[in-house]
Amino acid sequence: MAVKLEIPEQVEWILNRLRQCGYEAYIVGGCVRDALLGRKPGDWDITTSALPAEVKKVFGRTIDTGLQHGTVTVMRDHVGYEITTYRIDGEYEDGRHPKEVAFTRELKEDLRRRDFTINAMAYSHETGLVDIFGGEEDLKNGVIRCVGKAHERFTEDVLRILRAIRFSAQLNFKIEEETWDALCTLAPGLVQISRERIQAELTKTLLSDRPEAILKVEAAGMSPYIVPGFSEVFLDRELKGRLEQSRLLPGEKALRWSVFLAKAGEKNAAAVLRELKMDNDTIRKTEVLVRWFGKEIEENETAVRRAMSAMDDVVFDWLLELKEAAHPENTEHIRTVRGMALASRGRGECIRKKQLAVTGNDLIRLGFVPGPDLGQTLDVLFEEVLENPGCNNRQELLARAESMLGCK
Ligand code: ATP
Ligand code: MG
Repeated sequence: MAVKLEIPEQVEWILNRLRQCGYEAYIVGGCVRDALLGRKPGDWDITTSALPAEVKKVFGRTIDTGLQHGTVTVMRDHVGYEITTYRIDGEYEDGRHPKEVAFTRELKEDLRRRDFTINAMAYSHETGLVDIFGGEEDLKNGVIRCVGKAHERFTEDVLRILRAIRFSAQLNFKIEEETWDALCTLAPGLVQISRERIQAELTKTLLSDRPEAILKVEAAGMSPYIVPGFSEVFLDRELKGRLEQSRLLPGEKALRWSVFLAKAGEKNAAAVLRELKMDNDTIRKTEVLVRWFGKEIEENETAVRRAMSAMDDVVFDWLLELKEAAHPENTEHIRTVRGMALASRGRGECIRKKQLAVTGNDLIRLGFVPGPDLGQTLDVLFEEVLENPGCNNRQELLARAESMLGCK
């Protein structure tokens, strides 16, 4: 029976407009794959026989997204839809970028340039599924397979070898043998790929339901070509178990990267992420998580408050999940610590300096001179409050500060 996929009405409208003007138009790539799998597509890409100038004429108002690649964006109900002209990628000059792209009026040619069979299908209600390379079959069997000769396809664009691993993680698919062999052979080519792009694929792998698929990066011999310090991470004997446990953890970049880097040490973890051009916020959070992964949090309220004070609330919650995933045998302990943290939050206890009942200005009014001494005094008060939250009131803290002023 012919497949019938559900297409949002905005996309349907775009396809119809193009068709009414005499052009072919299909949804293509990831959205066809996801719709066939019954997953919700992230975005709906449209492919058409119309040239970019023709697409612009059909819609009047468009955004030039990547004109040199034939992509024009049309807005419908505040959402952008990318419409790309059928194209053939020319020769690849640096293992990443085609030297030129040529437009074609043949859908088949456009599908042929795509990376994997499961990503090389097009669909329209009128024509049904256009599946020239056996993508539907591979979807059924859970297989990642290159369109055409794997070795050639990976040579054209080495990033595809990480995409193969990423899709195998996201879909829980096997990588077909010829594709796998080619990917192992071409692993050294990764040195040509920009680190941002490598990072994006690795991050998607870690955020997937099969974060342990990142072990394929090592199995395929790619890890020496990622960034310095990356291959050492795989020496960690607990890595596999931890990754497998982590699939149920929140899909947060810093948390998933921390699962991966937990035993690397905070300095190495941060260095790897910096080399991979990770954003600073994620690096900072990962650093804290890795640091505290290596520390035991004792079951006493002061110790718990101290750990809480070292990071944002949400990061603290991730830390406990990370510890639990790494050592399920410690679940009871983690539960106790989590209970203490929740109780502390419930009581509104001071765990940040800005929650202290006195400020620097209060101390200046008492006679402290602005500068390092004053900062140190606030630190001492904060330490005391962490140990004894009951004394976080103005009167007590001012009296305590005054006594310290006397000692100077
Ligand atoms: P996602 O769900 O991550 O968006 P996707 O399949 O839509 O997955 P994109 O990177 O958005 O992936 O690319 C859209 C489509 O473009 C792919 O399905 C594939 O057909 C094609 N494509 C993308 N990158 C490449 C590449 N490096 N080589 C060949 N084809 C590619
Ligand atoms: Mg996409």
